[in-house]
Amino acid sequence: MDLVSDALDAIRGLEDTPADGLAEAKASELTGKLRPIVRRLGHAYYVENKPLLSDGQYDKLFRALQVLEERFPDLKTLDSPTHRVGGPPLEKFEKVQHPEPLLSLGNAFDSGELRAWYERVCRGLGDVLDDGEKPALVAELKIDGLAIALRYEGGQLTLGATRGNGIIGENVTTHVRTVRSIPLKLSDEAPSYLEVRGEVYMRRSTFEELNRKLVEVGESPLANPRNTAAGSLRQLDPAAVAGRKLDFWAYGIGKTDGAIPATQTEVLAWLKELGLPPSPNHARFDDIEGVVDFCETWTEKRGELDFEIDGVVVKVDRKDYQAELGSVANAPRWAVAFKFPAQEATTRLLDIEQNVGRTGVVKPIAILEPVEVGGVTVSRATLHNAEYILARDIRIGDRVTIKRAGDVIPQVVGPVVETRVGTETTYEEPTTCPDCGEPLVRLEGEADIRCVSATCPAQLKRLVEHFASRNAMDIVGIGEKVAVQLVEEGLVGTIPDIYSLDRDALLALEGYKDKKVDNLMEGIETSKGRPLRRLLFGLGIRFIGETTAKLLVAEFASLGVYAPPNGGKALGKATREELEAIHGIGPETAESVVSWFSNSENRDIVEALHKLGVNTVRLPEEEPSAPTTKSAIAGKTFVLTGTLPTLKRSDARRMIERAGGKVTGSVSKNTDYLVAGEAAGSKLDKANELAIPVLDEAALLELLG
Ligand code: NAD
Repeated sequence: MDLVSDALDAIRGLEDTPADGLAEAKASELTGKLRPIVRRLGHAYYVENKPLLSDGQYDKLFRALQVLEERFPDLKTLDSPTHRVGGPPLEKFEKVQHPEPLLSLGNAFDSGELRAWYERVCRGLGDVLDDGEKPALVAELKIDGLAIALRYEGGQLTLGATRGNGIIGENVTTHVRTVRSIPLKLSDEAPSYLEVRGEVYMRRSTFEELNRKLVEVGESPLANPRNTAAGSLRQLDPAAVAGRKLDFWAYGIGKTDGAIPATQTEVLAWLKELGLPPSPNHARFDDIEGVVDFCETWTEKRGELDFEIDGVVVKVDRKDYQAELGSVANAPRWAVAFKFPAQEATTRLLDIEQNVGRTGVVKPIAILEPVEVGGVTVSRATLHNAEYILARDIRIGDRVTIKRAGDVIPQVVGPVVETRVGTETTYEEPTTCPDCGEPLVRLEGEADIRCVSATCPAQLKRLVEHFASRNAMDIVGIGEKVAVQLVEEGLVGTIPDIYSLDRDALLALEGYKDKKVDNLMEGIETSKGRPLRRLLFGLGIRFIGETTAKLLVAEFASLGVYAPPNGGKALGKATREELEAIHGIGPETAESVVSWFSNSENRDIVEALHKLGVNTVRLPEEEPSAPTTKSAIAGKTFVLTGTLPTLKRSDARRMIERAGGKVTGSVSKNTDYLVAGEAAGSKLDKANELAIPVLDEAALLELLG
C-alpha cells in the first residue's frame, strides 16, 4: 500500500467519530502522519504542477487535518499546512511581495455547510445589520486555474504575479502579457494604481486540441487544463506561453489609490468597464437560498462550459460588510468556496479486461480498486482502446486518475507516474476474441479492434440488451442479466427469437415463476407496436443512433426491402446516393446501412420480425408532417426538484432543453412547471403557494411526447 492509500485509510470514519470519541494520543499520531503527506501533496500541486492524487481526495486529507487541529488545539503547529496558502515561489522567478495578501478560501461541501457559513456571517455582522436585514450575496463560478495579481499603473499593465504563498509570489509579467484576454492597457477611467485579481485558465477546447497534437507527435497527453495552465505560466519561456492560448477572468481588486465601488456586483461591472473580462455567469441573491439553487444548478451544468470549474465562490456583496467581517488566518470570513462533488479520484489499476460490444468492438476495461467518486463507488472504467493506453503509458498496477463527469461512463485519465514502484506491467492488446476465440481484426483507419464473427455470443448478448433497452424497444423485463441468460440458455440466437420465446422454456429457467414470465411476455408483446425509429435504433446498425434513426424514418416509410403498404420508400432498398442526400447522413452511415441490408441474414431478421407481428413501418405519429408536441414545452420555464423515479435530473434537464424549454434553479412567478420527485422540499411548497402546475416524471414524459 502506498503513502496515499495509507493516509486515506487512516482518516476513514474520522468525520463521523464524535468529538470525545478520539483520544489525544491517537489524534496526535494521526496529525503526525497527515502533516508531511499534506505538505508533500501541496508541494507536488502548487510548486511542481503535478498532483499526486485528485483534488477531492486531497481535500479530504486537508479537512481531516483541520478537524483534528480544531478538536485538539494543542496539536496545532505554526508550520501546519492548514495555516498556509499555496506553496513557495520557484527560485527561477523574481519574487514579488503582494501589497495585500492573496488568501485562500474556506470550503463548504454541501448546502448545509453553506447555510452554516451564512449563519456565521449574519452572526458576525450582528449589530451592523438593520432589524430583519439579510446580507446580500454574490455567487461566482470558481474557475479552476491559477490565481494571478495584475498591477496597472497609469492604466498600463506593469506587473503580473502568481499567488505563491499568498504574501510572496512570482513575477510572471512577461508571461501574462501573452494572455490575450489580459488587457495591456485599461480604459481612461482606471485609477492611477490598481491591483486586479483573477484566474488564468485554459479552455477545455484549447486543452483538448493541445493534447491531440501532443499525441500526434508521440508525446504523452497532459492530465488536466488546470495543471497545464499553471505549468505553462510558471515553466515555459514566454514565447511558448503564447502558443498555449491561456485565458483570464477577473474577479476582484486588491490595493488601489482610486475610489472603489461599494459592492462586489458593482466591482464586477466596473472591471468590465475598465476593459477586463469579469468572472462569467455571476448572480446576486438576497439570501442564501438562492445561492443554494445556483450551486445545485451549476453542479449539474458544469460540463456544458468550455472551462473547468470546481465550485462556486460565494461572497458577501457589500464591501463595508466584508471589511467588518475580516479574515481568519488564511481565508476571508466574508467568502466561501462551495465545492462540487468530486469528479476525479485516484486508485489502483488492478487489471485490464476485455469487453465485446454489440457491434463486435472489443474495448479494454479497467478493473479498479473500488473508489468513491461523486457519491458513487467505481470499480470499472473505460480505457477506450490500446492507442489510448499506450499514448498515456498506463500500466497494470499503476495508481491512476479516474474521472466520472455527470452521467458519462467513468474513464481512466492517466497514471500518476510519480507513485510507480517498478512492478507495474505494460498492456498487451489481445489478438483473439475473449468470448468466442476468433481472431480480432482492426479495420483500416480505426483505433478499435473488432470481433467479426457472426456467431460471437458476446455480441449477441449486448445486442439483445440494447434492442430491449428503454430508448429502443423498451421491453420491460429484459435488462443486462436477462439478455445474458436468454443467450446463454440458447433461447435467443437471433433478435426475432425474442418474439417466439416459449412460456414453458422460460418457466424452466432458474428464478422464473409464473408472474415473472407473464410480465416478460407482456413486455415483449407490448413492444411489437413501437415506432419504427425505435426498432431501427434497436437493431444496432453501426452509426445509427437515436437521432440518425429519426432522420432515416422521416425519409423512409418502412424497414423492409418491399415498398411499404402506406406508400413511400423502403429503407432496405435505399442506395448510398439516396442516403447521403439526406441532410445529417454522412458517407460512413450511408455505407453502414447499405451493407447491413445487403447481408441476407439481416434481411431475414427484418422479414422474421415483420412476420412475428413487430411493426416495421412508419407510424402516423412519425410522419414528417405530424404535429410535434414541442409546442407544449418550447419557451416554457421548468424547475426540477427532488429525486425522480427513473430519470436523473440532468437527463430531465437535457430532454426539456432539447424540446426548447428552459430549466432554472428556483421557483418564481415566471415558472411554468415544477417537476417534483421524491423528497421535494421548499420548491414544492413555493410552487403550490404560487399555484404553479406540478408534474411528476410520468406527466413530464407525456408532455415531452
Ligand atoms: P481554493 O482553490 O479552494 O480557493 C482559492 C482560490 O480560488 C483563489 O486563489 C482563486 O484563485 C480561486 N478562484 C477561482 N474563481 C474565483 C472567484 N470567482 N472568486 C475568488 N476566487 C476564485 O484554495 P487554494 O488554497 O487556492 O487551493 C486549494 C485547491 O487546490 C483545492 O481545490 C485543492 O483540492 C487543490 N489542491 C490539490 C492538491 C492535490 O494533490 N490534488 C494539492 C493541493 C491543493
